[in-house]
Amino acid sequence: MSEAPQYGFDTLQVHAGARPDPATGARQTPIYQTTAYVFRDADHAAALFNLQEVGYIYSRLTNPTVSVLAERIATLEGGVGGICCSSGHAAQIMALFPLMGPERNLVASTRLYGGTVTQFSQTIKRFGWSAKFVDFDDLDAVRAAIDEDTRAIFCEAIANPGGYITDLDAIAGVADAAGLPLIVDNTSATPYLCRPIEHGATLVVHSTTKYLTGNGTVTGGAIVDSGRFDWSASDKFPSLAHPEPAYHGLKFHETFGPLAFTFHGIAVGLRDLGMTMNPQAAHYTLMGIETLSLRMQRHVENAVKVASWLESHPKVARVTYAGLPSSPWHERVARICPKGAGGLFTFALKDGYEACVRLVGAVNLFSHVANLGDTRSLIIHPASTTHRQLSEAQQVAAGAAPDTLRVSIGIEDAADIIADLEQALAMV
Ligand SMILES: *Cc1c(COP(=O)(O)O)cnc(C)c1O
Repeated sequence: MSEAPQYGFDTLQVHAGARPDPATGARQTPIYQTTAYVFRDADHAAALFNLQEVGYIYSRLTNPTVSVLAERIATLEGGVGGICCSSGHAAQIMALFPLMGPERNLVASTRLYGGTVTQFSQTIKRFGWSAKFVDFDDLDAVRAAIDEDTRAIFCEAIANPGGYITDLDAIAGVADAAGLPLIVDNTSATPYLCRPIEHGATLVVHSTTKYLTGNGTVTGGAIVDSGRFDWSASDKFPSLAHPEPAYHGLKFHETFGPLAFTFHGIAVGLRDLGMTMNPQAAHYTLMGIETLSLRMQRHVENAVKVASWLESHPKVARVTYAGLPSSPWHERVARICPKGAGGLFTFALKDGYEACVRLVGAVNLFSHVANLGDTRSLIIHPASTTHRQLSEAQQVAAGAAPDTLRVSIGIEDAADIIADLEQALAMV
């Protein structure tokens, strides 16, 4: 099915990567709840371990249910291969792992998911890696931050949560000129709204926990490779271009061509880091992804209605949503995510911190949770929760000022979502 590029997005989200089960004819992709796979004989086992034949050995590396999901996501993103991981944060580490090394750095946008800022500013230091955070609207600053030790450029397509849209074409131009891969976190947009590879991304990463699964049931992540980067063009990517000692000196790029990153991600990344997605999680995400386009259409439609309504409410100081003409990034919607600016945005209350705390306590339909991309409408007050440890200046810089609330607009009736906010606003 994935060999049929003539199919449209709605068809591929249901079929790509899947076929009736060869053993039973089961139409739905079975959950292959197994850790190991019987070898035909010793030669078969040897060929699998030498990467001379593709097949299943052990579910830390590959599993048939997880493979269907990896191919589904890769197809929807327009990439050549995909790797599923245990979470979005695992996918980020797995994406960087073949590129980085001690003393190496990445240049990252300042506008990122809070957990990613922590991962990049603190935790990766323990591997000897570091990140430089730059305003990605300032292309000269991005160029200036790149040095001899830079190995990747990282940003989000639609940045969570401040309604910011990255000019992916411009950033890809900078990455290209520097001979570096561009990694785009496409979690908030999903491939339905934005296809970063068409704008020059080398790798796309996802938290499948969010919209791809869509119903708040399982955590997961994915990496999609465009297959377009020349890992051998410089000496910067020895893991992919030079002989790999753990595989008798095999050179991934020379051997697997455009699939080098995907094979390395499985054969070295999953094998040795073990950040594997389990088949149950893959099943839930496959169930969700079948309706991705339908849900995203409704998320966007509802977000536009709710954001417009909030913008004219007397207690609301501002709304940051790129889907509104008032947004400084509104013009980028048509070019980067023409089907809409997603379902996430922030709004600020004139009465500040205390009013925000009261509002999250007064909503009924909205759930007060630290998640996004659910079919349900969700709300959080970052300054009293996820961004609590930051100074006020850091909160403001992160788009999480004390007067700011973040919403993830669900697929319920827009009138009910608005009515809930209306009654809650009346109480603050
Ligand atoms: C949630 C999220 C992540 C992290 O994903 P997990 O599945 O929670 O590990 C990364 N980036 C973005 C944009 C996210 O929303």
